[in-house]
Amino acid sequence: MQVEGAVAPNDPAESRAQLMYHHVKKLMYTVNIGEADPRFGKMLLEQFGGANGELAAAMQYSIQGFNCEDPARKDLLMDIGTEELSHLEVIGALTRMHLKPMKSNREAAEADPLMVIAGGGGVGLYDSMGNAWTADYLKVTGDLAVDLRSNIAAEARAKIVYERLIAFTEDKGSKEALQFLMTREITHMRAFTAALESMEKPQFAVGIIEPTPVLVDQFFNASTGESQYGETDFNGPWNSGNGLHTVQSEIKGGEGLDTKPYMPKPGTEKTSPVDSTPVGANTDGVGQKQAALHEKQAREMAQGAKVEV
Ligand code: MN
Ligand code: MN
Repeated sequence: MQVEGAVAPNDPAESRAQLMYHHVKKLMYTVNIGEADPRFGKMLLEQFGGANGELAAAMQYSIQGFNCEDPARKDLLMDIGTEELSHLEVIGALTRMHLKPMKSNREAAEADPLMVIAGGGGVGLYDSMGNAWTADYLKVTGDLAVDLRSNIAAEARAKIVYERLIAFTEDKGSKEALQFLMTREITHMRAFTAALESMEKPQFAVGIIEPTPVLVDQFFNASTGESQYGETDFNGPWNSGNGLHTVQSEIKGGEGLDTKPYMPKPGTEKTSPVDSTPVGANTDGVGQKQAALHEKQAREMAQGAKVEV
């Protein structure tokens, strides 16, 4: 079905068709395992209801997407957020297969009494240690560039958790499913990175107020001395190079950080036309310009829109 030039169609049936989530009874990846391993099933719960798990990823990207003012990158967030829900279903299926013996076998049930006694032996929104899933896992700042950076980091965490899970099973089918899920996280990491780069902001430009010159280049040597194990101060590109240089503390006879007051105006930082609109006092002036850019972009996109369902 195609709806020409319409953001919200008038026909309620069409509107419903476009706004619903719809579940299709087919896993994104076919999961098959050999022998069930309830203890491994408990480990797998980390990616079901854990801090870096699939539900957290699905919710983080979707809610960022709901809030996103740039339609192109909103599409990206909704694509990946929805794919993560499919991953939740795959990891849920894999976990259930491994937990299955818990339903009938006392020894297996001891792998996770919570899942059996309270949950009947199925998956629940808990991590591998039985901690309940919480929205506190989600990083949603409402600033597109900041959210994209959070997502790149989230994908890196999900990748390493999958890699560690792969290292703790010998089951071929489980390894294959986990390899699939792990690979998708790297794909997402690449997409989020490309989306951030496509905003064409300088690498360290965040928000609309520039950081304080001089101070911004100072790396503070806050850990000094020598330990019993030979640990001492090191030089690297993080403290001498890339525009950064090391500053010694006053208590070590150094110059200390440059604390001269500096009050740049909003609009001094380089922004992207698709940056999120600022809040508070910053909604005046430069913030209004940013909001106007968004409105213009949204109007233009709506005018040329072809909505396909
Ligand atoms: Mn995933
Ligand atoms: Mn992902």
